[in-house]
Amino acid sequence: MSIDCVAVAGAGTMGNGIAHVCALGGFRVVLIDADPGALERGVATIGRNLDRQLARDVITGEERAGALARIAPSASLDAVKGAGLVIEAVPEIAELKYEIFAELDRLAPGHAILASNTSSISITAIAARTGRPGQVIGMHFMNPVPVMKLVEVIRGLRTDDATTNAVMELSRALGKTPVEVRDFPGFVSNRILAPMINEAVFALMEGVAEAEAIDTVMKLGMNHPMGPLTLADLIGLDVVLHVLEVLHRELGDDRYRPCPLLRQYVAAGWLGRKAGRGFHTYA
Ligand code: NAD
Repeated sequence: MSIDCVAVAGAGTMGNGIAHVCALGGFRVVLIDADPGALERGVATIGRNLDRQLARDVITGEERAGALARIAPSASLDAVKGAGLVIEAVPEIAELKYEIFAELDRLAPGHAILASNTSSISITAIAARTGRPGQVIGMHFMNPVPVMKLVEVIRGLRTDDATTNAVMELSRALGKTPVEVRDFPGFVSNRILAPMINEAVFALMEGVAEAEAIDTVMKLGMNHPMGPLTLADLIGLDVVLHVLEVLHRELGDDRYRPCPLLRQYVAAGWLGRKAGRGFHTYA
């Protein structure tokens, strides 16, 4: 594989995690964010997370220093010009992603692969905004990126084999386990997770059991590390609702209709952990 420099566009929750694992994996990394404050916070977060890994003996002091030295922050998308792979992690707004991919197509070297970390937007539609649809692919990392092993690798309708193979190989080089999936709404992860959470909310609304009881059944009965309502609180109820709306609209099947109670909680601002209250209450 000829990739030695990875550009990451967006230094938020996912972008700084992706930059972190790429730098630890030995790649030169250009971390780009349009907001200078967000860029600074992203770099600081990487430093803190590397320190935590060092304290737990997950990495050595040398690995920490090497990773930090390989990261170059930038405020401009122009910085993608030396990259063999660009991973986009800007907010989940289709029009914004379309614009950025048209721009990346113009700025990145002709051989570069353009990947998106989107959780719900069609890779095929993003790819159509570029003159290189064969080299556009989804790399769906999980949060927190340095900890979670999975990368869902999403092949758009026109993604070519060489691009898919290169991204599978690079993901393994990062210590991740890539899984190849096709470009359908929600991919595999959210197609299965979001309806499970939705069903838990229906069970709560219908009074089948209390929130605590629903979570305990799934934790102790199904061996899930946390219950579906606790997980929804962690993800953010607005994000869960958005994913269900995408599934419902794009697949046109009522089995994905968001539970009215979920809509009510979002309307009330009970968005989960980040708001201090969702299906559970947080201090
Ligand atoms: P975030 O809001 O934390 O970060 C996005 C960053 O992009 C911000 O720092 C913002 O300043 C920057 N940005 C906005 N416009 C830009 C531009 N034009 N150029 C460069 N930077 C720009 O978002 P996030 O939670 O990291 O999510 C990013 C993507 O990852 C989304 O597509 C989301 O669906 C996906 N995702 C998120 C999670 C999660 O748990 N947060 C998990 C998997 C996938």
